[in-house]
Amino acid sequence: MIYQLKLPELTLKCLTDVVYLQMCFLRYASSRTALDQQSCEKYFSRHRRFRGRYQQIAKWLWGKKRLTFLKLLEKFAQGSTEEKRQWSKQMYREVIEFLQNPVGSITPNINKPTLSWQIAATEFLIKFYDEYLGDSKGAFPKSFFSGSELERFGREKFLSEFEKLNRIKVCPACDDERYSRIDHYLTKIFYPHLSCHPYNLVPICNTCNSDNKGEKNLLGSKSGNLRKLENIFLPYRGDGFQTDTYLKISLEQGLRKPIIIGLKVHPGKDLLERVEVYQYIFNIPDRWQKSIQTIDELVYRQIKQNIQSHVDGNSLKRGNLNIFGVRDLLDGILCNLFDNQGLVQWHFPMTWHLVTLINREIEPAVHSSTPINLENYELLKDIADWLIQDTIPHPVHERRDLAQKLCNVVLNRE
Ligand SMILES: [Zn+2]
Repeated sequence: MIYQLKLPELTLKCLTDVVYLQMCFLRYASSRTALDQQSCEKYFSRHRRFRGRYQQIAKWLWGKKRLTFLKLLEKFAQGSTEEKRQWSKQMYREVIEFLQNPVGSITPNINKPTLSWQIAATEFLIKFYDEYLGDSKGAFPKSFFSGSELERFGREKFLSEFEKLNRIKVCPACDDERYSRIDHYLTKIFYPHLSCHPYNLVPICNTCNSDNKGEKNLLGSKSGNLRKLENIFLPYRGDGFQTDTYLKISLEQGLRKPIIIGLKVHPGKDLLERVEVYQYIFNIPDRWQKSIQTIDELVYRQIKQNIQSHVDGNSLKRGNLNIFGVRDLLDGILCNLFDNQGLVQWHFPMTWHLVTLINREIEPAVHSSTPINLENYELLKDIADWLIQDTIPHPVHERRDLAQKLCNVVLNRE
């Protein structure tokens, strides 16, 4: 993710309850071949976590509307006892490890033989997401939760809690559109046991979800070996790449034809693989290059508006803005872009585009030992036009001219 995301406490609590419940259903069905409400109730009653609600949980599964859930779990129960036990045990272990300490590997379902009982269990797990988080009206039954205070938790609550805690309005994966989908960061096809996992669900936009990520496996690699969790960016864990990378942009083709070179990692940070995976999954920053003309226009518009409002606000001082004043104005826009990253579309690439412009056009002019010749500075020339000035004065040179004059007084007399 570009931005650091925080996991709301309520989401963590509720979805932790849901994944424990899912795992317990699997373990119950791996302990026998015939399922019935009474034995299910008894199985759940042995776990302290389900105290006071095991009857409702069993009642839920045998409810008329849950026939598909029950059929799938019954199909899973038909697998060989030892195999399904091992299988669900591994899933349970990975679910817990991903809750506590997300390092090492997580085994995708695809690497295993696709036996019918496994397919049924996969569908069973994913169905919880589809019914209660995928649909805007869905919400988990109250009996799923260990706390008594909660009325409903579903897609709407997930998103409203996320919004309350995170200062993010745009998709945290692409910085472009508004987020609208609850995405399985590790895709549910490969990792069904994480389909309702609190650390695996993140709101992103439709384009990222469907057109770019699709069914790509974040942990898969070209070599065939699985990546470890510590080698990819994880939502809610650590910083996003906003903190430790910058966007390198080239202006070699012209000031108004920026070319994105790529995301570069700050010195001393070991993030290269994470950035590569990110680029492969979401096509970022390649997608920004496709919109670079618009991004460039947005940056220029901000510069122009700021310069013009300076002119309007200082009508008496018109013609007086020097290179240091110009730099201050642009620095102000830069800080504003940075502060609004995550809130307004494309503010991450816009920030680095402006940094590139300042480094290319403003800094050399500020540090120039000769007066500014606008012919050499395309952006400064535009700025002078917007300021209705013929030139951008450089006070150091004015001072130097004065000093030279004073020296000349003495020199000419001798
Ligand atoms: Zn997106």
